[in-house]
Amino acid sequence: MEESELEKAEILERARKIVREESGPICDNCLGRQFATVSSGITNKKRGEILKEALRAEGEELSEGKCWLCNGLFDNLEDWVSKALEALHDYEYDNFLVGTKVSGLIAENEELMWEIAGASFAEPLKAELNREVGKRIERETGKIAEFDRPEIVVILNLWTDEVELQVNSVFIYGRYLKFLRGIPQTKWLCRKCHGRGCERCNFTGKMYAESVEELIKGSILNEFRGEDMVLHGSGREDIDARMLGSGRPFVVELKEPKRRDVDLRMLEQKVKEENVGKLQVTGLQYVKREVVARIKNAKADKTYRVTVQLKAGVKKEDDLRAAVTELNGAEIAQRTPTRVLHRRADLVRKRRVYEMKLMNYATATGICIIEIKCDGGLYIKELISGDAGRTKPSLGALLGTEVEVKELDVVDVGLDIPLDSSFYAV
Ligand SMILES: [Zn+2]
Ligand SMILES: [Zn+2]
Repeated sequence: MEESELEKAEILERARKIVREESGPICDNCLGRQFATVSSGITNKKRGEILKEALRAEGEELSEGKCWLCNGLFDNLEDWVSKALEALHDYEYDNFLVGTKVSGLIAENEELMWEIAGASFAEPLKAELNREVGKRIERETGKIAEFDRPEIVVILNLWTDEVELQVNSVFIYGRYLKFLRGIPQTKWLCRKCHGRGCERCNFTGKMYAESVEELIKGSILNEFRGEDMVLHGSGREDIDARMLGSGRPFVVELKEPKRRDVDLRMLEQKVKEENVGKLQVTGLQYVKREVVARIKNAKADKTYRVTVQLKAGVKKEDDLRAAVTELNGAEIAQRTPTRVLHRRADLVRKRRVYEMKLMNYATATGICIIEIKCDGGLYIKELISGDAGRTKPSLGALLGTEVEVKELDVVDVGLDIPLDSSFYAV
């Protein structure tokens, strides 16, 4: 100890006050903890022992028995350690953190103690309990206590005498390809019953039988032995659009997983085999939690392949080519499409078409295929149809005829965020 003589005398005086307190005996930990900040490199228990020795040497009589402050908590640390190990038994983890929910009684006792002896040198009870139980779990398991991003938080609940676990989610980044139309990205609740189940939805509560989220979940949740899985997409394609090419970036969040280290190449294979003709995922990587917000906020260019039907008075290929050239590189003023007005504010957005190419045109049927690279957020169906003048310019207006999107595929989704060490989970 490096404290000054004055401090030494002051500390001994306070310690004397504590052991003479009529509430009852005090354990070494609870005594030592009141002077925790005086010196480092020594446990509270040891510090308490030294203080008691010094008091005895001065003729102080110390009462024995259960500590009134912690109610014997520090004599029973091993009980808490066994409960924690039992709770952790089923889980895979590399690191953890211990936290304590202090009961009302102990919080009151601690306040009383600070009134008696002052709190200026003290450490809170829960800080010591967390550390001491943490050290023992480290010793038993070989895992590391981690303060920044623990995989599991072991909570010692002093109210209930039980150990609770807070198992943090696992996050996996990847891209999905959707080969089948009519599948939404996430579950859509039935419009009529809002999920309760009715005749319209065949008592599924859903508008569509399956979603990208549910298909991926079906293949991977069991592998992690998790409670649930949520898909966070970087934007979403229309339900009737396929997602092809390089696929769409997403992060899945596995909640309360018992396993955290599943072979991701195996998962990709499993998703592929279990969803033939529907879905595939590529480039799976373990990532940090923050990546969810980053991919959701990312501004990404999109490339679409659109099958368009030209109606009444099919145009000559030259006319079509001229209209496409006009739109190539154009800035589009797009008022919120009629079909999404019920859920989006009615305003005009400016979006750019970076590239527009005519890939194929069958004059006999009036069907053409166009590829469009543009800002994310440009509504393609309206860029083609014109949406009764709400989107300007549009293919329909330039051709002076009615045109309609028959089929829409997304063939690339750019992502303008760096995939560096701030992205991947270690
Ligand atoms: Zn105690
Ligand atoms: Zn329904």
